[in-house]
Amino acid sequence: VTARHSSGVVPLDAVASAALLARTIEAARAPDAVVVFDLDSTLLDNRPRQARIMREYGAAHGVAALAGGRAEHWNGWDSRVAMRNAGLDGDGIERHHARFRDYWTERFFTSAYCVDDDPIAGAVAFVAAVEAAGALIAYVTGRHEPMRAGTVACLVRHGMPAPGQRVRLLMKPTLEEHDDAYKARTYRALDALGRVVAAFDNEPTHINGYRTSFPDAVVVHLATDHSLRGVAVIADIPSVVDFAAYRPG
Ligand SMILES: [Mg+2]
Repeated sequence: VTARHSSGVVPLDAVASAALLARTIEAARAPDAVVVFDLDSTLLDNRPRQARIMREYGAAHGVAALAGGRAEHWNGWDSRVAMRNAGLDGDGIERHHARFRDYWTERFFTSAYCVDDDPIAGAVAFVAAVEAAGALIAYVTGRHEPMRAGTVACLVRHGMPAPGQRVRLLMKPTLEEHDDAYKARTYRALDALGRVVAAFDNEPTHINGYRTSFPDAVVVHLATDHSLRGVAVIADIPSVVDFAAYRPG
């Protein structure tokens, strides 16, 4: 009933997704429960941030097509695809994409820009339900510490739980540390917070790591996008496209 996702995974349909998400809320009621969420492409959609950077590049360089860029032009991480979708021709893409890449790198990993992200469908209601169930929420992200202020501002802007007594935001100390190494050592830090009962991540490498580190947890892959490294999601890990199927019980 659902199309095969580009990563090779087949996401659950709405009925099965709703059941899985409801089961997660039940698990979140356990004493000492910790529920782990990745941010980018799990709870938050980065496309508004991508589009803003492209618009500003277009305005700064007099490229009208890019100055009119919108979030829906982004489909994955290849800026050439977004440029084409925004209406730039092949010569224009050739002329601009390397320069845009540098412009993008200076802005994408910053607080000033990450505040623009939007929630993945249904994420706000689902995270609220996890909080209401009493679990400690751990946002575990590959974002680095200088992005903390913008990340918190974005969460607050969308009415999502902000870091505090029952909500933690675990970030990489530096941009340079590889996300895989960071997440691997974070699995151990999570043990100190309580018992991990559920984890959500869009990166196959990371969700596989949660499955291995927390075999009793509900571990869910987000079939949004991923880093295209050709890593397969472990076969028994379910995938959902977003959180829109969740209905409070
Ligand atoms: Mg992610």
